[in-house]
Amino acid sequence: MGRKEDNIAKARDLMHKPEYIRNIDIAAHIDHGKTTLSDNLVAGAGMMSEELAGKQLVMDFDEQEAARGITINAASASMVHTIDGQDYLINLIDTPGHVDFGGDVTRAMRAVDGCVIVVCAVEGPMPQTETVVRQALREKVKPILFINKTDRLINELKLGPVELQQRIAKHITEVNGLIMKMVPQEFKEAWTLRPETGNVVIGSAYNNWAISVPWMKKTGLTFKDVIDHCNAGDQKGLAKKAPLHRVLLNASITHHPAPHVAQKYRIPHIWKGDLESEVGKAMVNCDENGPLTLMVTKIIIDPHAGEIAFGRLFSGRVQKGQDLYVMGQAGKNRSQQVAVMVGADRIPVDQVTAGNIAAVQGLRDAIAGSTVSTSPDIEPFERIVHVSEPVVTVAVEAKQTKDLPKLVEVLRTVAKADPSIQVQINQETGENLMSGMGELHLEITEYRIRNDHGVDIKTSAPIVVYRECVLGRTPQPFEGKSPNKHNKFYVTAEILEDSLVQAIKNGEIPDSNGKIKDVKALVPKLVELGWDRDFSKGLFGLVGTNVFVDVTKGIQGIHETKELILDAFKEVCARGPRAGEPIQAVKFVLHDAKLHEDAVHRGPAQVIPAVRNACYGAMTVAGTTLLEPMQKVYISVPQDVMGGATREMQQRRSVIEDMESEGDMAIIHAKAPVAAMFGFAGAIRSAAQGRVLWSTENVGFQALPRELLDKVTGEIRTRKGLKPEPYGADYYAG
Ligand code: GDP
Repeated sequence: MGRKEDNIAKARDLMHKPEYIRNIDIAAHIDHGKTTLSDNLVAGAGMMSEELAGKQLVMDFDEQEAARGITINAASASMVHTIDGQDYLINLIDTPGHVDFGGDVTRAMRAVDGCVIVVCAVEGPMPQTETVVRQALREKVKPILFINKTDRLINELKLGPVELQQRIAKHITEVNGLIMKMVPQEFKEAWTLRPETGNVVIGSAYNNWAISVPWMKKTGLTFKDVIDHCNAGDQKGLAKKAPLHRVLLNASITHHPAPHVAQKYRIPHIWKGDLESEVGKAMVNCDENGPLTLMVTKIIIDPHAGEIAFGRLFSGRVQKGQDLYVMGQAGKNRSQQVAVMVGADRIPVDQVTAGNIAAVQGLRDAIAGSTVSTSPDIEPFERIVHVSEPVVTVAVEAKQTKDLPKLVEVLRTVAKADPSIQVQINQETGENLMSGMGELHLEITEYRIRNDHGVDIKTSAPIVVYRECVLGRTPQPFEGKSPNKHNKFYVTAEILEDSLVQAIKNGEIPDSNGKIKDVKALVPKLVELGWDRDFSKGLFGLVGTNVFVDVTKGIQGIHETKELILDAFKEVCARGPRAGEPIQAVKFVLHDAKLHEDAVHRGPAQVIPAVRNACYGAMTVAGTTLLEPMQKVYISVPQDVMGGATREMQQRRSVIEDMESEGDMAIIHAKAPVAAMFGFAGAIRSAAQGRVLWSTENVGFQALPRELLDKVTGEIRTRKGLKPEPYGADYYAG
């Protein structure tokens, strides 16, 4: 039996012994070495041949991804590692290195209990390091630190032992600072990075070596030895004395919790059901004999096998031929095949048990984020809070009309596999819109539609998705009349207080996307945030960060019209009066209403337009504006081409917020509108003569500069077939 086969056999056995399992992921700022590290770990553990590691990217099996050098799919790889004669099974989940795919990172974090934060020794912690540390701690995932590219400190920056240790100590202090800012109180002590305990590993993923204090103690290896090896050009020799996979996996096994240990505190944190119920107990205890609960973290479309759902099994066992329920979906799904992943190989197994990561075929109703169980109605896992929302849209058309039905189906599949993609399908016009986190995100998705799904498509130039908001408050309630003039609604609009916007965004006030079911439960929170108690009781609709409050008293028939008022409110949220873009952070208050006494005369055709006009009119009187999505941009270039890079940014309405230099590299931190960043990839590459690394992160919306407002409004309206100027309030008074 080859080493790989031997390890697969061991993995099948270890799967049933939670104390010998670790579920981990590796997270880093782009280019700090996550892919190289993942590869070399898998190779070192004998799951692929060592000669291949570095040549063939195991985790980056998506061609597109490899071409761009970034990791997009959160696939997983299991490996076996032995410490002191005891075998352990490490399930490594790969996470994307680009924040455009932030949703993927968060879902991958949910599936693991421990995480390796990779930080480049030359650059130190970068903004995305902070993002991933935050994501880990939010899910109660324990971090350890790997400081990578240490060879560069020695060979390029020529640091001696003292300076080397100082530099590393500085990085550790900074990462500890990030951890301490966000760590759950109960883990403040236990999760602090302390090199002497072995939760900090230093090394070079590329050259396959790593050291930790325990390893140095055990082997007698010193910093000076490390420097000597590097200076002598003998990192291979160093890799024999201090092999990366052994040192790092030792650290993981020692410091990361086993699934049955982690689930005790993670389940109450990520699942709000009854912990004393059968399912609750099974999950807390990671019981393989309990009911099955699986949290789907990723769906991959395999060109041959179709949809494959990856997920963490918190209890029970998943087997071929089981009938499973996807929470929130009617009907059952039958599992057709169950497998574990080894790099790009899917190894079918009879079953996967609690505490492991499984790949399951046949869960056609599941999407990334779904809760799957053998029971039809268990409480689903807490919703994963998305870091960002889609801000760029392209229109997608099939090149050949005969492909149109297939395209519609493929777009739906794509949105299912990646919940950060939103699609709007219009069967009548054949115009399909696809929105995502940024230009690159959409380009990759287009590539997948062409290559993985074989549909030849044409796409429009990317369009920014704006938001509409009000500038002030409607002084007097605005009257909106129904077409028959018998129903009248009196509404004001104003900006929603920031404290409420934040509370909605961080889930303290859940976005019900429509009607609020239990307003009583929310009243104390609203009062705490500064709302009047009586006023709070009137809250009845919430969509995104917009709210609708009804403060009317004793109006005959208003209860029956509430659903219609809500429908109108939803319409207004989806399309504002200025340019038909979604609105954000608007508070509507219904002050009074006059309804026809006969219900026949206050049906949908009357009430919906009346409320819509009242809302639109109120917003128009308050004054409307457009908000545009913004991105943080981090660019790292050699000093000698920095001028070209800053000039490129200045042409893009950007603000340069900070500049740092690190050796001969300059790091530019800027903030720019998404609209001005189109085509940036090519432009910056030529401005910096190809010697550039850059990344972006969506950071919400900001008011469009006054001088662009009319122009952009006109462009959007024209594109949508509307007259170029928005209507005045008179139009809505009708
Ligand atoms: P990722 O974006 O975090 O996945 O980073 P990669 O693994 O793709 O690495 C980014 C770049 O850094 C690649 O060119 C690697 O060859 C290089 N790299 C990774 N690890 C090391 C290291 O230990 N030393 C040096 N000198 N280069 C490294």
